[in-house]
Amino acid sequence: MRKFDITIVGLGPAGGTLSNLLAMHGLSILILDREKSFYPLPRAVHFDDEVMRVFQTIGITKEFLKYTIINKGTKFVNSKEKVILDWPRPKKITDNGWYPSYRFHQPDLEKQLRKKLKNYEKVLIEQNSEVRKITNSKNHVDITYTNTRNHKEYYVRSKYLVGCDGANSITRKQMKTKMDNLGFTQKWTVVDLILKKKKNNLPDRTIQYSNPKQPATYCRNVGKRRRWEFAIKKNQSDIKVLSENYIWNFLKPWLNKSDAIIERKTIYQFESAIARKWRKGRIFIAGDAAHLMPPFMGQGMCAGIRDASNLAWKIATCLKVKHNEAFLNTYQTERSLNVREYIETTMRMGEFVNAVESTPITDNIRSDNKGIKSMQSIKPKMGKGLGYLKDKNRGKIFPQFKLNKNTSLDDNFSKKGILILSSDLKTKVSKKYNLVNSKKIKKLSVYLKNINAKAILVRPDRFILGSANTNHEINLLLKKYSEILR
Ligand SMILES: Cc1cc2nc3c(=O)[nH]c(=O)nc-3n(C[C@H](O)[C@H](O)[C@H](O)COP(=O)(O)OP(=O)(O)OC[C@H]3O[C@@H](n4cnc5c(N)ncnc54)[C@H](O)[C@@H]3O)c2cc1C
Repeated sequence: MRKFDITIVGLGPAGGTLSNLLAMHGLSILILDREKSFYPLPRAVHFDDEVMRVFQTIGITKEFLKYTIINKGTKFVNSKEKVILDWPRPKKITDNGWYPSYRFHQPDLEKQLRKKLKNYEKVLIEQNSEVRKITNSKNHVDITYTNTRNHKEYYVRSKYLVGCDGANSITRKQMKTKMDNLGFTQKWTVVDLILKKKKNNLPDRTIQYSNPKQPATYCRNVGKRRRWEFAIKKNQSDIKVLSENYIWNFLKPWLNKSDAIIERKTIYQFESAIARKWRKGRIFIAGDAAHLMPPFMGQGMCAGIRDASNLAWKIATCLKVKHNEAFLNTYQTERSLNVREYIETTMRMGEFVNAVESTPITDNIRSDNKGIKSMQSIKPKMGKGLGYLKDKNRGKIFPQFKLNKNTSLDDNFSKKGILILSSDLKTKVSKKYNLVNSKKIKKLSVYLKNINAKAILVRPDRFILGSANTNHEINLLLKKYSEILR
């Protein structure tokens, strides 16, 4: 029987990102996907700065940037096209070292992720391979899959398995865990178009049409691509709504047939749900397999990338040191709280677009003195897990510090954690950590001062594990996490 360190089920954005992050550790990885190639229907068009930083870790940003544009933000308008809520995305580099928000075409990202995976000798991708059965044992996972072309059955064994197998995840079913429905279920049509000529009347911002008669969304995508999404009413037939006649009639206020071609069109059931268990023994779920949200904030895929970033170094550590149940449990506790907040805020946005609520009441919406409402992007907290909750710096994202034009402190860690120490503290430091003396980087000393810490321990996924102000505190932190941050 063939044996691997890890099997990844599903090569969408979550599986592609996770495989790349794990491959960086030199692990042997089998990736199984039942499709012949990429998923052909319209999906993600937006991602954020935190996600771009994960792509930077993988090493695809240089090439991938060419296929992205900076997102200018979203306007919510009422049936008279009056702006009722503004969500600007300032063109300003964030702590993550990237712009707050980008637009892209999902297949372009998936191509880059696959291209990068080809550089790793120990990564094997098998398309046309449908996973049928997954059995968890104390020390390994057994997998049965079928080749969808010749219908032959194959058996493989790996030390861990991650199901990145999307909304109808077989992995989740085999784990016998259920999805909790959080309440938003609605059918929408999604139409991707390619412009044949310049259309200056089409805005650069995303527009959410909060119109009870026809809730809809317009997206300005990369190059000549534009997208419209619109809600389907209960009594409407799918076939009729997807017909060219119906679509061109809907598009009349903006486009006619001579302006653009329809690239792809489909109907989705937008849902909001979260799995109860994200791990069973050596089996995990990530991405849409673990959570679903409507696309109003463009965060579904982003959440899957965050899962991958949280989980990759934990599995790699368990493979290199030893299997550690409590450590692996922190994957779900840290991630699920964060994703739940995205789902709940997205649902409120969805209700607003449906004009069910007059204005969503969330902490991230403010009114100015003229009564114009504007929204800020949310940055939900990481749930409890590693580190001490009473430590105010624990779970904060560690900013990306540029060392010069071409290098940043991020280049020094991704497999190991880093310990940042100001010269005031003395501790015996093992070679396990990348050690950085804050005195050597001025911006870093200022940062430590601002967060009121003399030392911080940063995880490979760029979150702060803990901070300290005395030799005793830092020694305690290092002792507690000596096996984990290596
Ligand atoms: C209209 C729309 C717009 C969206 N816009 C955004 C956006 O702007 N930003 C954003 O962040 N998100 C957005 N999303 C959400 C985003 O597209 C998904 O969250 C993302 O694609 C999920 O990625 P994934 O890797 O978890 O799963 P998927 O992309 O679904 O990949 C799952 C993979 O698993 C494979 N698979 C399934 N079962 C098996 C099996 N038994 N054996 C082997 N392989 C299997 C499938 O073939 C597939 O390749 C949008 C979604 C929709 C529908």
